[in-house]
Amino acid sequence: MSTYDVAIIGSGPGGYVAAIRCAQLGMKTAIIEKYDTLGGTCLNVGCIPSKALLDSSHHYHDAIAHFEDHGIEISGDIKANLKKMIDRKQNVVDTNTSGIKYLMDKNKITIYHGMGSFVDATHISIAQADGKTEEIEAKNIIIATGSKPSTLPFIKLDKKRVITSTEALSLKEIPKHLVVIGGGVIGLELGQVYKRLGAEVSVIEYMDRIIPTMDASLSKELQKVLKKQGVKFYTKHKVTAVKAGAKEVTITADDKKGNPVEFKGDYCLVSVGRKPYTDGLNLDKAGVKANEKGQIDVNDHLQTSASNIYAIGDVIKGAMLAHKAEEEGVFVAETIAGQKPHIDYNLIPGVVYTWPEVAAVGKTEEQLKEAGVDYKSGQFAMRALGRSRASGDIDGFVKILADAKTDEVLGVHMCGARVADLIAEAVVAMEFRASAEDIARMSHAHPTYAEAVKEAALDATGKRALHS
Ligand code: FAD
Ligand code: NAD
Repeated sequence: MSTYDVAIIGSGPGGYVAAIRCAQLGMKTAIIEKYDTLGGTCLNVGCIPSKALLDSSHHYHDAIAHFEDHGIEISGDIKANLKKMIDRKQNVVDTNTSGIKYLMDKNKITIYHGMGSFVDATHISIAQADGKTEEIEAKNIIIATGSKPSTLPFIKLDKKRVITSTEALSLKEIPKHLVVIGGGVIGLELGQVYKRLGAEVSVIEYMDRIIPTMDASLSKELQKVLKKQGVKFYTKHKVTAVKAGAKEVTITADDKKGNPVEFKGDYCLVSVGRKPYTDGLNLDKAGVKANEKGQIDVNDHLQTSASNIYAIGDVIKGAMLAHKAEEEGVFVAETIAGQKPHIDYNLIPGVVYTWPEVAAVGKTEEQLKEAGVDYKSGQFAMRALGRSRASGDIDGFVKILADAKTDEVLGVHMCGARVADLIAEAVVAMEFRASAEDIARMSHAHPTYAEAVKEAALDATGKRALHS
């Protein structure tokens, strides 16, 4: 039987990053993945393919809606070739997943393909596709088995008409009318993909606003812009039934007043969140406990109820984000190696890759109000930037929330072009506990979208923005 210092179950961004860090720290490491390709949800059916389709559909939309403004005339029809877009997306995925295989080999990490399940706290049985089973032994084990789409109790996901993000990333036709249940990250990103490609898109959201966990100002701005782009929103609507026919889906919901309303579409995307995935792991054989939400219980060291077994990423509490899983992968590897790592969960940014993008880090205004924190706010509109006018991307703003007395930055909320990248400046600033004045006094290259961060900081620190 092969023995390892560490065995990791699951090769998503949590698992594969943990494996690399363990190997860097000199541990003999194995990684177990039930699918043929490495990379987990993120690389195969999540972050990467969704961004590939967002980029392709963005180019198409620019060509039909914005090229003319820039003096670019195209004679003849501009057509969206969905098959080619999906093929390109798959190429992007394949390049990325083979990149992970390269990284595993480079770091001398042993890869096992098969379903891992606990025999006991130090042994894992791996059931391979060809029916063979192999058992390995490991001193330490990291569970990184991720998550799967969740649904509502009365919805049957037939994966043909009533679909999850996984099917939405590989459709064979552009929907005529895509009805999206859930105005969160997946619903808005994939809704925008198909809106740009010509589908009618209706988003039904249970709460009173889309992206309800983010700062309310971001929900408002994004909904306004997406509405201008033609996406229809039905907030405060409670879906009560979903019925799929051969070519049509009927969705029934109670509207704001409690009256039943009906939506008919050719596809219905169910994007109401994801649930931790622990099927087949045999957690009880290892003495690992999960909570009522199905998440594996961990302590501050991400250690489970079995002291040599750790859990990271979507399968435990916290934001279901690739970069959160990665941080936890590094954290656990370093903990096993005897180091004392640290993660500041408050500084894990959240991004929505619509256009305009939405990005945030730290506390929202709602959270600060609830906690009774005395804060001040500075805001700067993207449309006031020379850079935004040059590109034509004038929607959105940057908002900085700072402590009323100390001026320390407590939260940064952005909507606009390239804010997914701009948010890194806010994370750095907050990591070093910068004040709004610190950001305001740093030189920001002109003309850039980043100038909005400086201007918002100037506004927060003393209502002295220069360009508004
Ligand atoms: P996963 O990536 O889910 O990987 C778990 C792996 O474990 C899988 O490969 C699975 O096959 C394997 N596995 C499970 N059980 C076993 C077993 N018993 N034996 C062997 N293998 C097993 N996050 C972002 O930060 N940015 C984004 O832009 C983003 N976009 C997304 C878009 C979509 C459409 C979706 C669905 C998700 C997106 N996410 C995004 C979320 C992100 O994908 C997850 O947070 C991330 O993948 C979690 O990583 P993980 O390592 O915990 O688990
Ligand atoms: P989500 O939690 O982001 O959004 C789910 C939405 O569905 C929420 O707005 C919620 O209020 C709504 N909802 C819940 N029940 C409902 C009901 N009965 N009727 C109508 N609406 C209902 O979940 P998601 O969009 O499915 O994404 C799943 C996970 O994947 C998220 O945790 C997210 O972090 C991750 N993800 C991240 C990115 C990114 O980082 N850009 C992209 C995609 C997915």
